[in-house]
Amino acid sequence: MKADPEVQRLLLDLQAVDTSLDRNRHRDATLPERATVAELQRAADADADRAVRARTVVSDLSRQVARAEGDVSSVRARADRDRALLASGNVSSSRQLSDLEHEVVSLAKRQAELEDAELEVMEQLEVAEAELAAIAAAIEAGEAARAEAVAARDGALAALATEREALLADRADLVARVPADLLASYERIRSGGVGIAAGLVRYGRCESCQMELSRVDLDAIRAAPADDVLRCPECRAIMIRTEESGL
Ligand SMILES: [Zn+2]
Repeated sequence: MKADPEVQRLLLDLQAVDTSLDRNRHRDATLPERATVAELQRAADADADRAVRARTVVSDLSRQVARAEGDVSSVRARADRDRALLASGNVSSSRQLSDLEHEVVSLAKRQAELEDAELEVMEQLEVAEAELAAIAAAIEAGEAARAEAVAARDGALAALATEREALLADRADLVARVPADLLASYERIRSGGVGIAAGLVRYGRCESCQMELSRVDLDAIRAAPADDVLRCPECRAIMIRTEESGL
């Protein structure tokens, strides 16, 4: 293949743009900010689950406290009624009086037991409410951290997109100046997977693969007309000769 040496040099610029584009896409795909956002989202989901469980515990315990309050007040009401009856003087039978006095004593004991039980449930409720408040605080802090991480990620992605846009514009300019057959050859080599399709020959090396060229290869390169499109015998990249090549 033949191509004007000036045109061949455009491939070096094209290669530089494509290398920058590869790096840009790699950075986009492996952006650490993306992983941070995902990690914070997982933590937020876990906190939300914990909050649901904690709210269930709080509402169960609240019901238990209400029930215990009801138990205490019904025992208290019955004891009040017994005491009122005793004080009224309407009960004259000594057997009835003794039964009532006995009941007042046992109701007082029962009330004390129920109040102890109520107190215990109230303490559990207090602990559960504190736990729920701590989770709510963690969710709030997590939200703030996540918003910050999302902003950092979006900023990084926007910067990469801006850079990519500029590189693609440069690429379009270069591509328009490279003849179709030379460009097709360049693209075919690049699609081969190595990513480098054109490099300078310098200090006796192919700079695409860094291989040192043999004396025979160098002689052939020197002898080749300037408009010959040369390929590296090792990596098959297009070898560009310039005044820097030191041939
Ligand atoms: Zn090479």
